[in-house]
Amino acid sequence: MEKMYDLAIVGMGFAGYTGAIYATRYGLKTVIIGDIFGGQTSEAHIIGNYPGFEEITGMELMQRVQNQATKLGTEEIYERVEHIERLDDKTFTLTLRNGDTLSTRGLLLTIGMTRRKLNVPGEQEFYGKGITYCATCDGYFFKGKEVAVIGGGDSAVTAALFLAEICNKVHLLVRGDRLRAEQYWIDRLNKNSKILVHFKTGIDSFSGTDSLETIKTTNALEPELKVQGAFIEIGHEPNKLFTDVIGVKTDEHGFIEVSKNQETSVTGLYAAGDSTNASNKFAQLITAGSEAAIAVETIAKELSK
Ligand code: NDP
Repeated sequence: MEKMYDLAIVGMGFAGYTGAIYATRYGLKTVIIGDIFGGQTSEAHIIGNYPGFEEITGMELMQRVQNQATKLGTEEIYERVEHIERLDDKTFTLTLRNGDTLSTRGLLLTIGMTRRKLNVPGEQEFYGKGITYCATCDGYFFKGKEVAVIGGGDSAVTAALFLAEICNKVHLLVRGDRLRAEQYWIDRLNKNSKILVHFKTGIDSFSGTDSLETIKTTNALEPELKVQGAFIEIGHEPNKLFTDVIGVKTDEHGFIEVSKNQETSVTGLYAAGDSTNASNKFAQLITAGSEAAIAVETIAKELSK
């Protein structure tokens, strides 16, 4: 007979593990499932706004949260969930990529976001040949080189600050006329002589021979930039993994609609973190964690009825 859990959490990011910590402390038999550990948080070079840590790397924070959850008894399954089915007895059956299935009385989706793409010529061709979407993962391949970061939010600005420690020169290409990042990061950026900010600079295309050499921009004053690397940090879009399959209602931008206790439009199915429309869509660790805690508290109450 397949295993029955009290709570299955799909998604191994910050919201998922926070949910697992709360669930195990409520005494729920909990499993967390995903094909990659850590979510967006693990890619953050530096986190400076999570209370209790003046500055911590995303990976270290994720490992601490993971240790806490597993020590409390959370089981982990490293596999992609392919299908979710809600049965008449109100339990859920999850089918994994490897063919295994498991059953659960409660289900929490913490499926996060996927990286936004520019969708311009050359982006796909030079992906892995100069173009990357993760400064923390790939920055060291560009040691001593001249690179560009595309975007104007916290991700782009923190990536530029990180790359300035490794690279010779960093161009920050911002399509608008202002940065959207926290003032704290902007102040640090402005003090860094290795970073050059180019406003009103959208991206037309990427080109090169074997690897990236040139970025063509929409800025008539600077139509071309010669760089060896380009880090695309233009935000994220909600993951739409299961929403179509099990009929979870989303808003016009694809965010999962949840009630104030984080329940989705499917009774008994909860969601938390960046993929939902909760917390005013303010995608932060502290909001993702809070949403997961609220969801799990409700699930625990429902299961004990
Ligand atoms: P954001 O959505 O905040 O910012 C995206 C940026 O990319 C904007 O400047 C936007 O420009 C630009 N952009 C979007 N599409 C394009 C395009 N096609 N071409 C060029 N530029 C484009 O995303 P982030 O990933 O920066 O941040 C997401 C969330 O994560 C935020 O809540 C942020 O606070 C949080 N975060 C916090 C960090 C921290 O350490 N505190 C670190 C990283 C993220 P425009 O402004 O013109 O729309």
